[in-house]
Formats: sequence, structure tokens, C-alpha cells
Amino acid sequence: MSTREAINKAARSLPSVDELLRSASGIEMIDEIGQTHSATLARAAIDAMRTAIIEHETISKEEMLARCEARLLDLRTLEKMRSIKKVINATGVVVHTNLGRAPLSDDARHALMDAAGYCSLEYDLETGKRGRRGGHIEDMLIELTGAEDAIVVNNCAAAAFFILTAFAAGGEAVISRGELVEIGGDFRVPDVLAMSGSTLREVGTTNRTKLADYEKAIGETTRMLLRVHPSNYRIVGFTSTPSTQELSSLAHKHDLIFYEDIGSGAMIDLSSLGLTDEPLAKDSISQGADIVSFSGDKLLGGPQSGIIAGRKDLVDRLRKHPLYRALRPDKLTLAVLGATLRSYVREKAVEEIPVLRQIAATADEIGARAAKLITQLRAKPELKVETVTGESVIGGGAAPDVRRATKLIVISHQTRTAESIERQFRMFDPPIIARIEDGRVLIDLRCVGEKDEKSIVDAIDSVSA
Ligand SMILES: *Cc1c(COP(=O)(O)O)cnc(C)c1O
Repeated sequence: MSTREAINKAARSLPSVDELLRSASGIEMIDEIGQTHSATLARAAIDAMRTAIIEHETISKEEMLARCEARLLDLRTLEKMRSIKKVINATGVVVHTNLGRAPLSDDARHALMDAAGYCSLEYDLETGKRGRRGGHIEDMLIELTGAEDAIVVNNCAAAAFFILTAFAAGGEAVISRGELVEIGGDFRVPDVLAMSGSTLREVGTTNRTKLADYEKAIGETTRMLLRVHPSNYRIVGFTSTPSTQELSSLAHKHDLIFYEDIGSGAMIDLSSLGLTDEPLAKDSISQGADIVSFSGDKLLGGPQSGIIAGRKDLVDRLRKHPLYRALRPDKLTLAVLGATLRSYVREKAVEEIPVLRQIAATADEIGARAAKLITQLRAKPELKVETVTGESVIGGGAAPDVRRATKLIVISHQTRTAESIERQFRMFDPPIIARIEDGRVLIDLRCVGEKDEKSIVDAIDSVSA
């Protein structure tokens, strides 16, 4: 028999889609995900087995069906892993963009559930009439930033686009060359701002821009001065840029708007946590910015959202602008943001907001948890688990150069590579995202909830040769 014939013969033992779906796994799957989608997966499983047939293979129909069934279950498992799943963030990166940025506070999670049904999103319970959408959130933002008014959109990129569109379309916005930055995830400030129909007038150099550079660029078509906080990189050394006060005075002298995009959205002074360089919306407003924007899911610790605060006349124009309808967030976002802001209003943010609590955790506290965790592991001669000092990063476009001292759990195995252990953790249920350094797997408990420590113990215990 030729090779071709042998392969054809083996291929004839492949089940049909219907046959595969009549298997025990097939029947269960149809119940779970429906006939049409199960058939799609069954077809993919059979195709995969067809290409896996090797020369001279003799295989019974039953054996082939069993293999296809196993493949079908694999495909379903892979598919489930692609859905949004809870993961344990053992990377030590507090604001991790790939892992959903800020984890929400307990109150925020409850608010999310409450808002999931009918809710008083745009309804005034006192009058029984239509109310201002998210009105109490705007009121809290006014209180927290000291601005005259505030409004919320879907994210900070939308906020910047909105502000430029409303106030600078058809004209120029003056910006320092040092601030034409890419903020990760392909978000380039100049690209987004150009979509607004305004022209960015770049001034100064990458490391130094003087007030006179801005002044020289102001002309007939200038509508605003714009400052973007370079949140995910720092130019260090020989740098200079005018202060917020100088820029706002200059803007106002020429009847222009001064807009500051502060990005990472620290609401309170975090210098005691090592974040000395984070601009606060409050300061920006008090130093004369007409309008500011920042993200809700970075240092603020809430949902993805973009917050705009500033002069009443400007924010009112945004509220009435047709684009607002396209950029406004949904009830779930507003409910979560509201609950998050309430922690700030009652001055309990550092205790209640996970991002801040995690940044605040000291190496001693994390080290004590790590040591306790290690005592719960089953001892195995081939597996070495110890703690070492290391660093956690804030991440996510917030405070790029800020590192916090931490204690790491280091895992190494006599025969297994770090990559294979890291992968095993990633495939664990729930998945545990660790990092690798110098051929060792590192686990940082900074962003791991106490309740999730047991999963880490189980995952480490499951590492075998
Ligand atoms: C992160 C960031 C943005 C983008 O914010 P999103 O909420 O992710 O859209 C815009 N500007 C600055 C300065 C930022 O740091």
C-alpha cells in the first residue's frame, strides 16, 4: 500500500461531524453551547485530526472517534480561556493594562451589581422626573477637584479628542514637542488629537520648551495651549518646561484656553507612597487650567472612564455638544465610578481603593505574607521556593519610574524550565500571571488578594517533574 493509500485509509476512519456530536462529550457540549457552535468546533477537531494522520497509521474507527473527542474538548477549553476570565495578578505591576488596569473596590463591585438591573441613572427619585445623568458623580468630582463643573466620558483618549474637537477644531493647539507621546496600546497623542480637526502646533525641543516658545507660536488661529503629562516615560536630566501657572497666565493673556491632560488621575497627594511626581487635578485647576482630563482606571482606581473637569462655561458646552451622546459612558461605568469616588469623598481612599492599598503595602508586609505562604507548601526536594527582595512597578501609563520595594517568591525546579512553570501557572484555574527573571519564576504578592493565596499554594504544589 502506498503512503497516500495508507493516509486515505486512516482518513476514512475519521468520524463525521454528526458522529462526533453523538459522542458523550458532543451531547454535553450541545447542551452547553448550542448545536451550531458545537458543529463548528467538531469540524475543526476533525480537520485537526486529519492533518495529524501519520504515514502507515492503522487506527480503528473507535480509537479515531476517541481522539477526535479529546481534540474537541481541547478546543472548547482553549476557547473558554479566550473569554474574559478572572486572573491572579502575581506580576507586582499594580496598574496592569493587559490585566484590566485598576481592580475595583468592594463598594464598587456592589454598585456594579446594583446598577445591573433598573436603576436611577437618569431619574430623580425626589421629583419623579428625569434627572441629570450621573449628576451626583459630577458633584463629587467638583468637590474633589475644586473645578466649577465636571463631566465623564468613556476614557481619557475620548476626553482629549472631545476637548480638542469642541474648542480647537479648525484652529491650532500649541503643544511642546516633549509631550507628543505614545501612551502604549498604540495610543499616540498627536494621532488622536489630529482627528479632532485641529492642528497641533509643536514648539520647543524634546527636552526643553520655554514659555517664549509658546508665546511665539500664538497667532490668529490659535485656540488653546495644551499640556499632556508624559505619564509613561520620563525625560530626565537637562529638561525644562514652564509651570502650569505660567502657561495659564500666558493663555489667558491671549484669550486662549489652557487645557492640561494629566492622564494618570491621582486624586490625592501620593508622595507618602513614593509617587512624588503625579500631578493632581486639584492643583492644576487651582493653578489656572481651564480644563483638565484624566483616566478613571489608573491611579484613581476605578472603571475605564475619562474625567473632564474645568470651567463651567466650557463643561456646559461639552454637555450640550452632539458628540457627548457618542462618548458618554454606560450605567455600569457610572455606578462603579460613583462608588469609587465616594471612598475619596469620605477620605478612606487609601484603605478602600485596591490600587492605593497595593501601592501602600510595604516590603515587610508582603514579605510576611510570602513567608507564611511558603510554610503551607508541600516540601519537594526538586523544587526550590524562597523569598528575595525585589521591586514592584506601578505601571499602566502611571508613574513609570516609580518602583516599590517588595519581597518576591522565587521558584526554581531541578529539571523544569522557568518558562514551563510560568506557563503552567498561566493555565491554572484561576490563571496565575507570574514573571520570569534570570531563569526563575517570580511571584509578587503585592496585587494578590489574601483570598487568592490558597490558589498560589495549590499551583506551586502542582509543579512536578
Ligand atoms: C493614559 C493616558 C491617556 C489615555 O487614557 P485612557 O483612559 O487609557 O484612554 C491619555 N493621556 C495621558 C496623559 C495618559 O496618561
